Amino acid sequence: MKKILVTGGSGFIGSHTCLLLLEEGHEIFVIDSHINSSPKSLERLSTIIEAENIFLNGKLHIYKGDLRDNKILKKIFLDANKNGGSIDAVLHFAGLKSVSESFNSPMLYWDANVNSTINLLKVMEANNCKTIIFSSSANIYNSKTPQLTTENSEINPVNPYGRTKAVIERILTDIFESASDTWRIANLRYFNPIGAHPSGFIGEDPQGVPSNLFPFITQVAAGRRKELTIFGNNWPTKDGTGVRDYIHVMDLAEGHLRALKYLLDSKPRLLNLNLGTGKGTSVLELIETFEKVNKVSIPYSFVNRRKGDLPITIASNELCKTCLNWTPQRTLEDMCRDGWKWQLQNPKGYFNSNENF
Ligand code: NAD
Ligand code: UDP
Repeated sequence: MKKILVTGGSGFIGSHTCLLLLEEGHEIFVIDSHINSSPKSLERLSTIIEAENIFLNGKLHIYKGDLRDNKILKKIFLDANKNGGSIDAVLHFAGLKSVSESFNSPMLYWDANVNSTINLLKVMEANNCKTIIFSSSANIYNSKTPQLTTENSEINPVNPYGRTKAVIERILTDIFESASDTWRIANLRYFNPIGAHPSGFIGEDPQGVPSNLFPFITQVAAGRRKELTIFGNNWPTKDGTGVRDYIHVMDLAEGHLRALKYLLDSKPRLLNLNLGTGKGTSVLELIETFEKVNKVSIPYSFVNRRKGDLPITIASNELCKTCLNWTPQRTLEDMCRDGWKWQLQNPKGYFNSNENF
């Protein structure tokens, strides 16, 4: 059992990972400002865990606060020391993630993503906590070809959001190089996480109009939005629509647990790792699969390309296989089925939801 600090743990990927950490018996300390999430996601973890007859017994500590606030971070580390031990590792999910918003409000993104991380790293170092897994993104690459993106592919992000992620990776690399015998760092570069926990109790709950494709599709299917607009039908891809590497959020969460174990069990190191399936799916293919699996219809129309988009991003996951002896297991059909179940059970996300299940 380890003590793990999870930043942004109420969010989409964080909440699914917290569930697995608790199921593995870890004690977790979650900090989240709820700028893009609801406290209900973590409340629902207890429902899932109780259904599995696992007892939480004070294993989940929740703090509402912003990572740029030193006081709350220091308090968490102090609290973790109270019953002996200390924070063993940090899973750092907190951050803002909308590409379009990052074009409109770059300062907000640099502050929320980079300054938060610097603050976190300072408090970690002061507490001699030197193991961190960072939520990086395929957005740091600039892939223009159908070739698989490897960890050595060019880093040259095309939007401010991706640039904040690339800079944080650079900061973490500099820190590692300054004391490579003490730090354990993993930059996990996620491709496109979608889907939800198969129970339908937790899932993705974007505030306002979704900027990502999958939650837009589920909301159109549910009748919350009239139609999907597809950004471009003239990309140099198999059917003219953008191709991405979609990965089930539960696979992504499992990837974190693998990476955590790998880091804690091995000597200090810096790891840059893609988390993707190695398979490319176009927008039209995703719609078709979603319609077929869930027997629903997704009306759509084409509009111009979106600023900051790339035609195709698919991960090479060879390094992941070698290092973690693991690759994602779930299919596109699983992602569509589980994501739809979450949407059906929670038509308005966590807001106004009926908690009596
Ligand atoms: P999310 O918005 O659901 O979760 C992020 C959480 O961080 C939210 O709960 C939010 O309230 C919290 N947060 C944001 N800024 C904070 C701050 N300053 N202090 C405290 N809490 C703060 O997003 P997600 O999809 O779960 O993504 C998690 C991480 O993974 C993010 O860093 C994101 O950039 C990265 N990522 C996501 C995707 C994706 O498609 N979902 C892809 C690649 C990388
Ligand atoms: N996309 C789209 N309509 C939308 C949202 C996204 O056509 O409303 C397309 C987008 O152009 C890209 C793919 O869907 O080709 C995945 O977009 P998303 O924003 O989910 O992920 P990212 O572009 O960050 O990889």
